[in-house]
Amino acid sequence: MKVPQTGAAVAAVIALALTTSGCGGEEDKGTLAIGIKFDQPGVGLREAGGTYSGFDVDVATYIAKQLGYKPEQIEFKRVDSSDRELLLQYNEVRFVAASYSISDKRKEKVDFAGPYFTAHQDLLVRADDTTITKAEDLNSKRLCSVTGSTSAENVKKNLAPKASVLELPGYSECVVALQDNLVDAMTTDNSILAGYVAQKGNEGKFKLTGQSLSNENYGIGLKKGDKELQGKINAALKKMVADGSWEAAVRKNFGPNYKFDPAPAIATGS
Ligand code: GLU
Repeated sequence: MKVPQTGAAVAAVIALALTTSGCGGEEDKGTLAIGIKFDQPGVGLREAGGTYSGFDVDVATYIAKQLGYKPEQIEFKRVDSSDRELLLQYNEVRFVAASYSISDKRKEKVDFAGPYFTAHQDLLVRADDTTITKAEDLNSKRLCSVTGSTSAENVKKNLAPKASVLELPGYSECVVALQDNLVDAMTTDNSILAGYVAQKGNEGKFKLTGQSLSNENYGIGLKKGDKELQGKINAALKKMVADGSWEAAVRKNFGPNYKFDPAPAIATGS
């Protein structure tokens, strides 16, 4: 290596050597694997160019920053509704930010930080439908829902036990089934459904029925017992709400017409 002459240049070379060798005094944190949805516009979406967008992506990126990770150190991994617990249990991801409702059943297998958002179960129908306005109407209809979701459970147990339910692995598959007339409605959180209504190419195709069939409190899924990370993420979420980034992310991702609940009270510590 050519030795530079000035003191500043020497310092710059040393600094560069230290950062590239990972001994810069700062902990070398490597990458952070985060589980998100890949097919839910406005919530968690892998774009055609390999970039990611959505409210959960923004929340995850904010948390990562508070934990000391730069955006380029984040590795987003795809999770589906049915495999979120499994990916946490097997350390495939450090945490999950994927429209993941906190529930007692899930808490048997994983822990949650948050809640950081409240959504409500609703129905999506074709724009010209006049026959489905409430959950009971589904009892004589074909409905699409996603395996492993609270929405599927809720519809089968409570909302419309007689509906003929088609369960698919992801919501975008349900949207195709709805468009192709294979089902009459699909159900999940209004946040997710609003994203499909607003998606480019879907203009005028679908509408929400405007039901509030449940409260879905989204949490950040963690490996069970990871109390330290839970405390840190709760602190990050509180900061995100306090500094205005939370509301900015809601408005950016869900659009001007989406009516959202105020940020829920986030747990203190772990
Ligand atoms: N929030 C609900 C759940 O956690 C529905 C959305 C989803 O499947 O991701 O099951």
